[in-house]
Amino acid sequence: MFETVTPPEPDKIIRLMGMFAADPRVDKVDLGVGVYRSPEGKTPVMAAVKAAERAIWERQESKGYVGLRGDPGFIEAMRRLILGDAVPEARVAGAGTPGGTAAVRQVLESVHRLQPGATVWISDPTWPNHPAIIDHLGQKRRSYRYYDAASGSLDREGMLADLAEARRGDLILLHGCCHNPTGVDPALADWRALADLCARTGAIPFVDMAYQGFGDGLEADAAGVRLLAEALPEVFVAASCSKNFGLYRERVGVVLIVTEAKAAAEGVLAGMNRQNFAFPPDHGARVVQDILSDQTLGDAWRAELEGMREVMAGNRRALAQALRGATGSDRFGFLAAHRGMFSLIGASPEQVDILREKHGIYLVGDGRMNVAGLTAAAIPRVAAALAEVLA
Ligand code: PMP
Repeated sequence: MFETVTPPEPDKIIRLMGMFAADPRVDKVDLGVGVYRSPEGKTPVMAAVKAAERAIWERQESKGYVGLRGDPGFIEAMRRLILGDAVPEARVAGAGTPGGTAAVRQVLESVHRLQPGATVWISDPTWPNHPAIIDHLGQKRRSYRYYDAASGSLDREGMLADLAEARRGDLILLHGCCHNPTGVDPALADWRALADLCARTGAIPFVDMAYQGFGDGLEADAAGVRLLAEALPEVFVAASCSKNFGLYRERVGVVLIVTEAKAAAEGVLAGMNRQNFAFPPDHGARVVQDILSDQTLGDAWRAELEGMREVMAGNRRALAQALRGATGSDRFGFLAAHRGMFSLIGASPEQVDILREKHGIYLVGDGRMNVAGLTAAAIPRVAAALAEVLA
C-alpha cells in the first residue's frame, strides 16, 4: 500500500528538532522548538507534578477506564482555572483530550459536523497546526490580519476590518495569550472589540489557550477569554496543560464550551472522543486535578510557574538590551514588550539558514524565536549574531 506513497513533509518545527539533535557543535543554541527551558537549559518536571505523581502512585488501585470525557473533577478544575467566575458551571460543557492539539481538533471537528458551511478565521500568522487540521477536515478557512511587522505590535484595525466580514456561525480562532508565533496579544479593549464584533456578526469565538501563566500571570492571561465568556452565548475553548504544568508528553488537554445546551454539547464531545481515541489519557489529567484541588500543591505549582514566567520575561529584557548595545538602535525593543515564549525576530528564511549554519543558532524558518531557549551565557553571542546577520 505504501510503495508508491510520497510521505508528507514533516512539520518544519519537527524537522528543526532533528537538525539540532544532529549538530555536533557544543555551543549550539536551540531557539526553535516550543518547550520551556530553565536557565540551566532543562525542561524540568515541576516539583508539584512530582509530588502529585508520587501520591497517585501510592493510592491508585486501578487503571480501569474512566469516562469518555475523562474525570469530571479534572474538567471542573480546568473550568475554574480558565474561566474563573465568568460563567456558571451549568453553562460550561467540557471533555478531556490528549493534549491541546486534540482539543483543537475536537472543537474543529464538532463544528465541522454541526455547521459544515462555517468558515474558520485564523490569524496571519498562526500556529501551523491550525490550518493543517482545518484543511485535513475539509473546512473553509480565511486569514485575518493580526501582526504589524513594522512595529512588532497588533494590527488592530486590520484585524477588526477583516473579521467584520465573518458571518453567523463562523468560527474566529484566537490565541488566549502568548500568541504563537508573534508574542503579541490583544489588550483588554481589543478583546472587548472582538466580543462586540462577535455579538454583531453572530460569529463564534474559539480560544486556543496553550500558555496560560506564561504571559502576565494565570489570572491576567485568562482575562480575554473570560470577557468573551461573560459577553457571548457561545464560546469554544481548547486548552493545553503541556506548557504551564510541563506535562508535554503526558498529553493533557481540555475542551470547554460555553453554551446554553450543556448536556447536548457534552454528548457530542463524548461521541467525538469515542470515535477518535475513546478515552483521554488519565495520568497527567489526574496530576493536574490533584494540584489544582490541593492548597499546598497548588501554591507550589503557582510559585514555580511564576518563576518560569519571570525567566522568560528576564530573557526578553536581557536580549533586547544586548541587541540595543549590538545595533545601537531600539529596533528590537519589541522583544521586551512581547509575552510568552515566542517572538518573530524579523529574519528572512535565508537569514535563518545563516544563523543556523554559521552560528549554530536555531530558529524556525519564519524567524520565530523561543526566548526560553536563551541562557545568560548565550545571550551576548545570540545578540552579536543577530546584529550581524540581520544588519
Ligand atoms: N495551540 C498552540 C497555539 C500551541 O502553540 C500548542 C503547542 N505547540 C498547542 C495548541 C498544543 O500543544 P499540545 O498538544 O502539546 O498540548
